[in-house]
Amino acid sequence: MRIEIKTPVWTGDIDQKSELLKSTGIMGSLRWWTEAILRSDNNNRYACDPTSDERCPKEERNEEYYCSACLIFGATGIRRTFRLNVSGGRRVFTGSALNIKPSGRNKGWYLGSGVVGEINLEITPLDKDFDKSLVLLPLIIASKWGGIGAKTQHGYGVVKIEDYPEINFNRFKDAIKKITAQERLSKLSELSKLRIKLRHGSNNGLPDLREMFFTKVQFEVRDENWWKQIDGIKSDNKSDEQRRHREYENDQRMINWVSSGSVPIAPAIKNWLRFGKKITTKEGKKIQVSPFSEVFNKRVSNWLFGNSEENNKTASKINISCAYPVNDNLWEFRIWGWIPKDGIPQGFDRGGFLNSLKQTLRGGSVKIPWNELLGNQTKNHKLKVWREFDSPRDTVKPNARDTIKPNESNIDDYIQSLLNTEVE
Ligand SMILES: [Zn+2]
Repeated sequence: MRIEIKTPVWTGDIDQKSELLKSTGIMGSLRWWTEAILRSDNNNRYACDPTSDERCPKEERNEEYYCSACLIFGATGIRRTFRLNVSGGRRVFTGSALNIKPSGRNKGWYLGSGVVGEINLEITPLDKDFDKSLVLLPLIIASKWGGIGAKTQHGYGVVKIEDYPEINFNRFKDAIKKITAQERLSKLSELSKLRIKLRHGSNNGLPDLREMFFTKVQFEVRDENWWKQIDGIKSDNKSDEQRRHREYENDQRMINWVSSGSVPIAPAIKNWLRFGKKITTKEGKKIQVSPFSEVFNKRVSNWLFGNSEENNKTASKINISCAYPVNDNLWEFRIWGWIPKDGIPQGFDRGGFLNSLKQTLRGGSVKIPWNELLGNQTKNHKLKVWREFDSPRDTVKPNARDTIKPNESNIDDYIQSLLNTEVE
């Protein structure tokens, strides 16, 4: 499969010398998307978190239990059903990471090089029951609505798959059934001399497609140098010391990034969503007010966006992509994420937050100061699409091709519509 990178892909610490994308990073995010899809299954299919102590196998009475995801991607004791080779791509720039500091930030966000260009994914089946839909379906959903690789919260990982076959969700479901069938597990048991069983369990607290939302925002630009006005790329700060660190329009690393076909806007957008803008109170005090202060407090903000500006000790629930062009003057970016319904911090109104976010992106009562964030060479910013399972916020309406209905509560139909819908 050929994949066109639209915003740099981050796959862990790239080898400075080899410029190679690590297939482990792509494999990891492929697995992450597969898990989220498996967990959304009405039959309560379990997918373990392979980074936690709860990962497979779970041993009980001399039997080894593996979840559906591990039976595809492998785990201790069983091998994966396919091999993935990644080739192609090139580094955006060499040297240290860019440190983008939008208004009001002291530390800012660090953006390292990542990989751009075209990459090839070569998938080799290692099991007779492997079906290509097992890899294609999660990859198509990730490429249409989210991202692949790491650091998607900072804008990395938007890709476009070139020339892929149409994949029906039923084919994926059949492939999963085959991979997890008891008959197959019995054969595996004979070969490995283990007693392998399908693992069930509770997916609570783990990413689930039913709890995810996907949006695309589009805007027009008046000038090809519009990006020089982005908050954090341009700075009005007059101190020489800070100017040097904050102004990036003449920095070769930033010039390379932009000429590779995307613009890092995530810090500017995230800074506003998270911290809002400075206002002066009646008492004359300058404070920052988040546009969502009614639906979350600081603790919730850390939980939603990760616990600090520049690092990622708590994984961010919200991802904001770089901006990438749709055609000559029309640009687009994505805001998407997973916000669980259970186990949310006290004082967080999940529905209220998603409603406010959608209203804000649509130009509701809280206005995003687009021209302060993305610069005065941008215009006509609008929410293009909002996808969310079983939600009145979902904007995709029935059409001839989809069987989707408003508030679609059939997960199979919803996933199929994510595969079908073209919004560009
Ligand atoms: Zn597992």
